[in-house]
Amino acid sequence: MADTHAKIEDNPKILSGPVLTNSPNAVLSKTLLGRYNDLPIPADKILATYIWIDGTGEHLRCKDRTLNFIPKVPKDLPIWNFDGSSTGQSDGHNSDTFLYPRAIYRDPFRRGNHILVMCDTYKYNMEPTGTNHRIKCSEAYEKCKDDEPWFGIEQEYILLDSDLRPFGWPPGGFPPPQGPYYCGVGANKVFARDLVEAHYRCCLFAGVPISGTNAEVMPSQWEFQVGPSVGVSAGDDLWVARYILNRLAEEYGVIVSFDPKPVQDWNGSGAHTNFSTKKMREDNGIIEIEKAIDKLSKVHMKHIKVYDPRGGKDNERRLTGLHETASINDFSAGVANRGSSIRIPRTVAEEKKGYLEDRRPASNCDPYAVIDALMRTCILNE
Ligand code: ADP
Ligand code: MN
Ligand code: MN
Ligand code: MN
Repeated sequence: MADTHAKIEDNPKILSGPVLTNSPNAVLSKTLLGRYNDLPIPADKILATYIWIDGTGEHLRCKDRTLNFIPKVPKDLPIWNFDGSSTGQSDGHNSDTFLYPRAIYRDPFRRGNHILVMCDTYKYNMEPTGTNHRIKCSEAYEKCKDDEPWFGIEQEYILLDSDLRPFGWPPGGFPPPQGPYYCGVGANKVFARDLVEAHYRCCLFAGVPISGTNAEVMPSQWEFQVGPSVGVSAGDDLWVARYILNRLAEEYGVIVSFDPKPVQDWNGSGAHTNFSTKKMREDNGIIEIEKAIDKLSKVHMKHIKVYDPRGGKDNERRLTGLHETASINDFSAGVANRGSSIRIPRTVAEEKKGYLEDRRPASNCDPYAVIDALMRTCILNE
């Protein structure tokens, strides 16, 4: 049972970003900008938001530029740069860090022909930065393209109020125990559905293949799923979905936390990664699924190390063996078992084909690192 007297503020891990209480965003007028959004701007001017992962490996940065053409593919877009010494990606002496455009999405905030551009980052000498896991992932994907690896990622997260407590939780205490909140309906069970609905629609507009959403076990905890997406694009899709969520949350004046275990004794947040290859999806693909599980069983700790941005430290708090998780120290697999590392969904076992679910990745994982590890272990036998 949760200790109703413990203070959530005492949990230093709840927010891994900077601490700023009482964000003024919530009280800014949300309608004034409409007047300026209506201003006609020249039709040949395209606004592009370049997005990248910073030196924490878990937070996003962005900046905007004007283009004089409509880019069709990432290669049409200019390589750009930023001050890496301000993002933990270089020292001050050699701070120019480069942005390579990798994927284009429609911008749901500006609409029209304006775009979001997912980038990866390179140091002054054009070596990838320490948190650029995309490059390795895309190399792995190039090698196993013919196996058609698909990934569907379930992104769990919680919303915090500007006082850094879970949004809607009673001051100084806890809501009634978990039970009624998962997939809940009603003002006393789910909070901020408006934001979730806006996010769903923005993702569809942007071209992110969001496949669903649901309220989660802890009040103010939610999930959305992206995919199945093919290879490295699953990482692009998830990062852009996270960007859109954070941008929307700015407008609503709430904070998104991807911390994997925000509150002790309550369900944590994961990024279950559903994975299949062409062979797994064909008749009797269950044999391939079992082969993959056997390979995964031999390199459990290697995967745990890349399933959160702190080499397994974040997941230690979440993968306790309780709250629908398996222990971080043991590998296990089972049909319909939500207490195992790998779950084979019931329908997959019945149809003898489909996909497996890796339940270990933390909510703040870098999906490029996760799917890179899955492709290398299960397909490339590395
Ligand atoms: P859960 O029952 O674990 O909550 P969800 O319905 O939330 O499952 O998520 C299932 C995920 O599996 C979705 O992201 C979906 O896109 C993905 N998925 C479905 N089929 C496949 C497949 N063949 N390969 C990879 N991912 C898949
Ligand atoms: Mn789910
Ligand atoms: Mn879930
Ligand atoms: Mn799941």
